[in-house]
Amino acid sequence: MYHNAKELLALIGDSGKSIADIVIENEMEISEMSREAIMDELQRRYDIMYKACHDGLETAVTSISGLTGGTGKQMWDFIKSGKGIQDLTTQKGIAYALSCSEVNASMGLIVAAPTAGACGILPGTLICVAEKLNSEKEDILKALATAAGVGQIITKNATVSGAEGGCQAECGAAASMAAAAITQLCGGSPEQCFEAAAIAMKNVMGLVCDPVAGLVEMPCTKRNASGVTNAILCCDLAMAGITSHIPFDEVVDAMFRVGKALPSTLRETALGGIAVTPTGIALKEKIFGGGGCSGNCASCGACK
Ligand code: SF4
Repeated sequence: MYHNAKELLALIGDSGKSIADIVIENEMEISEMSREAIMDELQRRYDIMYKACHDGLETAVTSISGLTGGTGKQMWDFIKSGKGIQDLTTQKGIAYALSCSEVNASMGLIVAAPTAGACGILPGTLICVAEKLNSEKEDILKALATAAGVGQIITKNATVSGAEGGCQAECGAAASMAAAAITQLCGGSPEQCFEAAAIAMKNVMGLVCDPVAGLVEMPCTKRNASGVTNAILCCDLAMAGITSHIPFDEVVDAMFRVGKALPSTLRETALGGIAVTPTGIALKEKIFGGGGCSGNCASCGACK
């Protein structure tokens, strides 16, 4: 059993095992499931992720509120045009993340990894990199297990809730998980996986949670796209031998302290950030009318 990255790396020692090996062994112990059953469950979740990352590419998926939608298809069409600055792998990862996020906003089936709001980052990143590397199924599922291990550590020692720690806790955690996963897929060491995860979290330290109209759509969808580029960037940094200098566990502690220091207006209440810009307020009124209901009962309760 491990509680942080330091303990997990100590369990690996010089065994030659990966982070995924330890995470799967730990899961076998606490769930009393066989390795085969755990790999089957990882496959089931990967299949859901894969579908959500593709459902919004050829057909525009629109949210229930009508606030967002269609960006996965827009990005996919743009990729097909051959234009764009980033390489094809990153472009595809962005389109996958947008699609997945839009499927979530349309109340479709996604895997909360670690949350629904940040659900596009890990699958978008993992799928596009696995395609580039032509990875084996077993290696993809083990990368998913590594992501789960990183998410476990963040959850145990901090939070993955935007309401508790801001968007750094949601999209930051998802980018850390994705960065570690693809670093392992690229052949990085366990230490390099945690370097990538640490840098990804540092890159969005302090990011606020400010959803327009209290809905997990805007800015969430595009932050999922941003999380993919963050994860791929950090994988490349780690694989180049560049380190975070601040260890992953200390970065997680810092993120939690920053989250606690954020005012409640910037933690999913829709009372700060872009949610209260003139356009953000106008969009809210268009959806809910001018009666003042944000749809976010936790921040209001006026109707109770
Ligand atoms: S802005 Fe808030 S609701 Fe949206 S993804 Fe970030 S943490 Fe989640």
